[in-house]
Amino acid sequence: MNARATTTWISGPVLRAASTGAFLLREAVVVGDARLLGEVIRVSREEITVQVYEDTSGLRPGDPVEGSGRLLSIRLGPGILGRIFDGLLRPIGVEDSSVDAARVRPGMREAPPGSFRFTPRLAVGDRVAPGAIVGDVGPDAAETPAAGLRQRCLVPPDAAPGEVVELADAGCVAEDAAICTVRTDDGGEYDIALSHRWPVRLPRPVAKRLPADEPMLTGQRILDCLFPIARGGTAAIPGGFGTGKTVLLETIAKWCDADVIVYVGCGERGNELAGLLAEFLELEDPRTGRPLLERTVVIANTSNMPVAAREASIYTGITVAEYFRDQGLDVALMADSTSRWAEALREVSGRLGELPGEGGYPAYLSSRLADFYERAARVETLAGAPGSVSVMGAVSPPSGDFSEPVTNHTRRYVGCLWALDVRRAQARFYPAIHPLTSYSDSARGLARWWHTEGCTRWEALRRRFLTLLEDEARLERMARIIGRDAMPPRQRLTLVSAQLINQAFLRQSAFSDIDRYATPQRQAVMMRLIGSFIDAGEALLADGVAPERLAEAPVFRALMRMGEEIPEGDWERFSELDRELSETVRLIGEGARS
Ligand code: ADP
Ligand code: MG
Repeated sequence: MNARATTTWISGPVLRAASTGAFLLREAVVVGDARLLGEVIRVSREEITVQVYEDTSGLRPGDPVEGSGRLLSIRLGPGILGRIFDGLLRPIGVEDSSVDAARVRPGMREAPPGSFRFTPRLAVGDRVAPGAIVGDVGPDAAETPAAGLRQRCLVPPDAAPGEVVELADAGCVAEDAAICTVRTDDGGEYDIALSHRWPVRLPRPVAKRLPADEPMLTGQRILDCLFPIARGGTAAIPGGFGTGKTVLLETIAKWCDADVIVYVGCGERGNELAGLLAEFLELEDPRTGRPLLERTVVIANTSNMPVAAREASIYTGITVAEYFRDQGLDVALMADSTSRWAEALREVSGRLGELPGEGGYPAYLSSRLADFYERAARVETLAGAPGSVSVMGAVSPPSGDFSEPVTNHTRRYVGCLWALDVRRAQARFYPAIHPLTSYSDSARGLARWWHTEGCTRWEALRRRFLTLLEDEARLERMARIIGRDAMPPRQRLTLVSAQLINQAFLRQSAFSDIDRYATPQRQAVMMRLIGSFIDAGEALLADGVAPERLAEAPVFRALMRMGEEIPEGDWERFSELDRELSETVRLIGEGARS
């Protein structure tokens, strides 16, 4: 018999109820005749406080609150992939690619179980432990669009070890049907289905955390080469309105080398998310040739949807990500925007009458951000395979002021900061990531990877680029005062080199067919070419040649345009450019000496 309570007080998404039974903290409840979904966020002897995940208009004092006996949880199974959900993993449907409040119906239920093909990997009599692989899961018919991704059915991570006493043969099964029965050592038995429940606020267990020494490639040069994120790493993207947070997250979602994408649209505009869905349906996944949406999970809680569900959507997203990670996959989670999530936290806290902290946010804002980002990791799963969840969150500081609480606290928990700059965005320099205010703590650990990929100078060139960009900022100020022509040649060379780094390397349009994505090979070639240019400039300078001689040569213009003009795989043209650079340097050098 589940606990029951009677509503006494309602304020927006929060209600209090006189309770006669024992509710659990964080228990899932249903409220009123419409059976709205809620979660117990406070308990005392006679009263519970509930956060309701749906529109509460129409609720009245006296309405019943019914416990479920379990923590707020979601059902994880193969049917999640390629779909769009609300913040509590209830399907919204993508038929017409629209996302709006009308689709979130009061009392909405979770998705009906789908049917999948199961192929066992165990046999009756085998011993199993939590997280062990029971079998492979695929689409239920050859002609159904495959997600192009192998999925697996695992022994749930919270189940007891034991012996397989029954096992289904290969064939099509409903997601919630028992396919395996395990007898535990104390003589009990439990069934395993393709899907299982997991509480959203509880990190899923792993065997151990692994070091962050593999990059999560984004295809964006400024990220992969200057501020790289490791698999299992975290990054925050703070930026004022219109600086390109959403475009950057979407671009990464499209091109990064993760197996599964979890995209959490959190409190942003619905039409933006609708655009994303339409694009993902159209975009062909370079790995499978199928729509990208098929290996994506979208969790949508746009600005017009109930505010409390927004608070949960972040945890729902990361739980889904961990579920795929546990199958030995690399997952990338994007959250746009964590500021809107923090606002939801603030609103609920205000309704509870809690003492507001900095910026009106509750004092636990910081620990909640930590709880979220700390779930990103590269791990060895319980089954012994490597898997990872990398997390990237946009932060939208009001009026672009990075000293506000959400940006400030987020900084403490992320490994990379990709700070968007208003001035770069206004100059339409995209991505508008500022090279001097951004950082990555993974660069050192990733140098070895680039080295084994054949880019032995990656770390050295990276440092060189960053130093030049720093020097540039200082010299630009001087140039504005005394004029560029009055500066010594060495400083003018620094400005020319930095211009090349900025325009040819860091600038990369998300909308260019050739340049929206760059493989590490292409990034490395471009990096080396720019390195050669800088070296040549230094050498000529030593011979007394003014840097303008090099900057005015046609090869300089060709280098400036190489990102836009030389496509992936056209190594011959990059080599030509290299030869042209050497030839130019030789001619200028000869001219100077003669
Ligand atoms: P935000 O989410 O920070 O408010 P958006 O991501 O919506 O900003 O970007 C605003 C506009 O800036 C986009 O509509 C686009 O025109 C331009 N833009 C942003 N990033 C890029 C990019 N990487 N490449 C090209 N254009 C961009
Ligand atoms: Mg945006």
